[in-house]
Amino acid sequence: MRDQIVLQRRQSREIQVGSVTVGGNAPVAVQSMTNTLTTDIDATVAQVLRLQEAGADIVRISVPDPESAAAMPEILNQTQVPIIADIHFSYKMALASLDAGVHGLRLNPGNIGGRDRVERVVKASAERGVSIRIGVNAGSLEKELNEKYGEPCADAMVESALNHIHILEDMHFNDIKVSLKASNIPMTVAAYRKLAKIVDYPLHLGITESGSRFGGTVKSSIGLGLLLADGIGDTIRVSLAAEPEEEVKVGFEILKSLGLRHRGVNLIACPSCARQKFNVIEIVAELEERLAHIQENIDVAVIGCVVNGPGEAKEVDVGITGGYPVHMMYRDGEKSEKVKTGNMIDQLVEDVERRAALVRQAALDGNGEKS
Ligand code: SF4
Repeated sequence: MRDQIVLQRRQSREIQVGSVTVGGNAPVAVQSMTNTLTTDIDATVAQVLRLQEAGADIVRISVPDPESAAAMPEILNQTQVPIIADIHFSYKMALASLDAGVHGLRLNPGNIGGRDRVERVVKASAERGVSIRIGVNAGSLEKELNEKYGEPCADAMVESALNHIHILEDMHFNDIKVSLKASNIPMTVAAYRKLAKIVDYPLHLGITESGSRFGGTVKSSIGLGLLLADGIGDTIRVSLAAEPEEEVKVGFEILKSLGLRHRGVNLIACPSCARQKFNVIEIVAELEERLAHIQENIDVAVIGCVVNGPGEAKEVDVGITGGYPVHMMYRDGEKSEKVKTGNMIDQLVEDVERRAALVRQAALDGNGEKS
């Protein structure tokens, strides 16, 4: 129900990662990466399926050796989400991954050997309609660039990206997206802003080695948020030292907070204070858990008292405002019924599930506004 100011996105060209369009007017894609041994097919498939369930649009898998490449066909066979093979240095792993049927490659063409090797990979990618992400990382810049600039910096990262881009462009390959990752947020943001003005390739955003679930979430939200608010970014990966599903959840929260994607419940809650008429923190924690399965875009407000409650509740699909001795439920911004503390969570969950079913049905009927 909330009116959103629509962010103007940078106009980038479109590429495909399997069935997912990245760039142009396509929604910002959320991706993550497996952290299982790729050779452990069962564990990797299980993780990819969990990522699919969490909403990942694309999943990346490392292919460091021939055994991992040999596992890829079966992993692809048992999963549905587009898969990108992460390649470092070995053109053979890139070719084997392409043979396995991956939907995208992540490699830096300047790092996989001479021109003939790059040409073989580019030709095989072009034949299969597979796009390539050039992934520049401040921690592994080319020696010449580190010498030229003295230390990793935004200009060096952009120059590195342009060098890799030119290698592919020289071979008439343009199904490219680019990332410029550093753990330093100002450097990352400056690099992306600069490159965004020079090329029109879609950009994959990420803050690398951002840290633990808590610290990494804050860093990624700031770094990615600054860029996304500028309209920069066509796909994102939040890097956390946590289970990859967490990365997907945080990615969606970042996009939801900017109105760029909608997935699941957007929970609005007051921070609570002495005026609260029920325990807001406990209720919100339980609600978050019980509503985690909802995929439809539904705004829910949980507000501890009447100071801000009615105003917030008017703006959402389902809301509750603390009162004494009972609380007030809202539907579509209108007061609906009074509810006691003991029943409020069940009532809210029931309302949201009913709403989600209606949104799903409307989407099936082809007239859904929210999904
Ligand atoms: S809405 Fe009420 S309970 Fe919540 S923080 Fe504000 S004054 Fe406190």
